Amino acid sequence: MADGCGCDRHAHMYLSVDEALCRGRSAADPITETETLPLAAAIGRILARDCFSKVNMPAFDNSAMDGYAVRTADLGDAALFQMAVAGRIAAGDSGSHAAPVGSALRIFTGAPVPSDYDAIVMQEDCDVVEGQIRFSRRPKPGQHIRRAGEDLHAGAPILRRGCEIGPREVAALASAGYGEVVVLRKLKVAIFSTGSELRQPGEPLGPGQIYNSNRYMLLALLQKPWIDLTDRGQVEDDPELLKQVLLDATETSDLIITTGGVSVGDEDHMPRLLTEIGGVTDVMKVAMKPGKPIIFGRRGRALYIGLPGNPVSAFVTWQIIGSQMMARRAGLHHTPQAAVQAVLSEPLYRTAGRQEYRPVQIDGYTPDGRPRLRLMEPSYSGRVALLAQADGLAIIPAEVTEYPEGQGLELLQF
Ligand code: AMP
Ligand code: MG
Repeated sequence: MADGCGCDRHAHMYLSVDEALCRGRSAADPITETETLPLAAAIGRILARDCFSKVNMPAFDNSAMDGYAVRTADLGDAALFQMAVAGRIAAGDSGSHAAPVGSALRIFTGAPVPSDYDAIVMQEDCDVVEGQIRFSRRPKPGQHIRRAGEDLHAGAPILRRGCEIGPREVAALASAGYGEVVVLRKLKVAIFSTGSELRQPGEPLGPGQIYNSNRYMLLALLQKPWIDLTDRGQVEDDPELLKQVLLDATETSDLIITTGGVSVGDEDHMPRLLTEIGGVTDVMKVAMKPGKPIIFGRRGRALYIGLPGNPVSAFVTWQIIGSQMMARRAGLHHTPQAAVQAVLSEPLYRTAGRQEYRPVQIDGYTPDGRPRLRLMEPSYSGRVALLAQADGLAIIPAEVTEYPEGQGLELLQF
């Protein structure tokens, strides 16, 4: 499989979270088309090529301190060294200087060190008396000089393709001389929410109606510089309408994400509709709580991810599985989610079987700095307001039925 994944394809069994992740990521083939952008325009985008430094970093020997450049060979044996100051070099100066033997040069941080000077004496260690400096400690050859290429040699690797160009990455590219950079084109993502009960916030609610929260959650989750997002709003549970929107979206998108309509009720049309328009689907029943059903599939070049309708389930399945599939489709290299070690501040009792992502609040820290977690409601898959009050999701492995107070566990912190 594309991702080097060895998991089985058991279509109708419950999959472990790891198996589902593996299967989902394997189905998400990375886009490869690129564009070349000026460096500033590439911020937040995904690097398409490995990058190597175009220059030595730093490019020339330069002073790490404000002080005086000296030639250690000029210094005899003395308890107090005294030298004339024969010139001045600031950052941005060329660094070529003819100075008499036995003299020092005033120099500033970042200024080039002339080739025959081999040490910097910090200004804090000098007394200046009538144009002469005096210092008592013998400087070591090379002291306070940053050597050319000491950080990185020209040609040395700086960044790997597939990384997101954040503040640190763009600074590294700039210092390595990249005026423009080759990035992956934006991922074309389309979203829509399914459900005849949905209304937009701000509209009055009729009987049986609820506000569409998934749409806004997805808009927020997908606000990334490497995404070109098309919001197709919400669609009623009408198979013909749904089919049309789905078909249109598959013609123009790399990835389609929907919420709702993926379980086994009569109004849950999505897997069948994707097949009817010539796509293929894979319904993954994942042994996770919340968020059992997640389906994915494809039609032509478009990858489809169908999330559950329950907002908390949609959020968790997106965080754990969907977002990882999207990352791979977009060409990002794999960065597993970082969990932090935490402890429970109260006991936990539950039914075994599914790996649980339980909303928790941090109510303090242990002496060794681990967050102490208070559990939120065990029944929460629709409770999106509760999710907004949580500090993270505690991971409870499938087989666990009971944890005592003080139990160590992993936390995905928001
Ligand atoms: P479904 O997966 O379509 O059966 O939906 C499961 C539950 O989630 C139902 O109670 C829906 O009303 C609710 N739901 C579905 N979509 C949304 C949405 N976009 N915003 C808020 N709740 C939703
Ligand atoms: Mg529905």
